[in-house]
Amino acid sequence: MKIIMLGAPGAGKGTQAKRIADKWQIPHVSTGDIFRANIKQGTELGNKAKAFIDKGMLVPDELTIELVIDRLQQSDCANGYVLDGYPRTIPQAESLTSELNKLGESVDYAINVDVPDENIVRRMGGRRACLTCGATYHIAYAQPKQEGICDRCQNALVLRDDDKPETVLKRLDVYHAQTQPLIEYYENQGILRTVDGTMDMEDVFKAIVDILGA
Ligand code: ADP
Ligand code: ADP
Ligand code: ZN
Repeated sequence: MKIIMLGAPGAGKGTQAKRIADKWQIPHVSTGDIFRANIKQGTELGNKAKAFIDKGMLVPDELTIELVIDRLQQSDCANGYVLDGYPRTIPQAESLTSELNKLGESVDYAINVDVPDENIVRRMGGRRACLTCGATYHIAYAQPKQEGICDRCQNALVLRDDDKPETVLKRLDVYHAQTQPLIEYYENQGILRTVDGTMDMEDVFKAIVDILGA
């Protein structure tokens, strides 16, 4: 099964993608996580990407598209994957469609997690991230067992630099300008499904399971 998660920054794409990956035993491929791992390791890609991420801008397509195409060719993706944070631009979506077409394949569903901007700003201030394993928490809605410590790997949780309010507002603008057009793109392919992302996490997941078939 090949799934794409669409939605504004903070809509809950990563939260739901992890659960989909667990239930269907497919890899969770998050471009944000890949960039953050590269930044942490100080790779050339990481250094280039950081300049854009810190400003709330998208990393240019030239740096992003090839990275994802390579990742999806790895053997663990042979039975499908859940893509979180990719595509984010029309050229990224077109490249994914054409790479899959070459293999006679296609995406099964694009799940749009719909959350209004005002909820996003409130949600993001409470997000806490583990930059070691990629786990995500929320100070009110998804608390770790021990405050400030990752349940999975025991490392310290942080407020991501790009989750500060000024950068979140910029990222929302970028989302509306560059990523929201993908909703129509996948609607035209007949594979868009929208879920109400303002429900609690459990109910959002139930709505997704209804779409994908248990
Ligand atoms: P969020 O979880 O808030 O949606 P991500 O972790 O997916 O954020 O992405 C963080 C940042 O990484 C983005 O704001 C952007 O700068 C960069 N990024 C992630 N995915 C892409 C992509 N597909 N194209 C361009 N930039 C990306
Ligand atoms: P995205 O990957 O779309 O940027 P995340 O999955 O990281 O979004 O979620 C953003 C923040 O909101 C995290 O702190 C997460 O714990 C929290 N969150 C996710 N889904 C919900 C929900 N349905 N209700 C309340 N908070 C949520
Ligand atoms: Zn962790």
